[in-house]
Amino acid sequence: MITVLRIGHRPQRDKRITTHVALVARAFGADKIVISEEDQKIKETITSVVESWGGDFSIEFQRWKSFLSNFSGTIVHLTMYGIPFEEKINEIREISGDICVIVGAEKVPPEIYQRATYNLAIGNQPHSEVSSLALFLDRYYKGNEFNRQFSKAKLEIKPSEKGKIVKGNNKK
Ligand code: SAM
Repeated sequence: MITVLRIGHRPQRDKRITTHVALVARAFGADKIVISEEDQKIKETITSVVESWGGDFSIEFQRWKSFLSNFSGTIVHLTMYGIPFEEKINEIREISGDICVIVGAEKVPPEIYQRATYNLAIGNQPHSEVSSLALFLDRYYKGNEFNRQFSKAKLEIKPSEKGKIVKGNNKK
């Protein structure tokens, strides 16, 4: 099971980017997101996406200290200061047990660097929690995350060269 732990969410500024972190987590194969700071609007958005587009992705709010104190698996913290992820991704794929992938917002507390099993950089340039999470999950699953079936989906896209075809919905 892969849980994404989002820390440092500021409800006034980060609503959109934290929502995108959650959407990427779900679409790219994580099972759950834990957000350290409560923001019910994000929960409503993600719950509604899961209802329409299926799958078992879940969202909850829990302070990161409390979440990590009960977590016994491997902790992967994504940070531009870390070790290049290409060096560790094969090793991490072989690990059995739960994985927690941490992404930050602004400044990440030093304790996270100490608690992490791996501090991994997706390149050593600053970019975003959204891109770093997407790349990590894609390399972890070697692209197979897109073959996953999303159970109980009310809506499903029929890929098309031009236009939009959505099954379960007559709009085109
Ligand atoms: N100084 C931060 C850092 O430690 O990476 C950059 C802050 S950035 C606005 C917010 C989050 O994006 C970071 O906490 C980290 O999870 C992710 N991030 C940004 N650039 C990254 C990179 N090159 N590699 C891994 N994660 C990155």
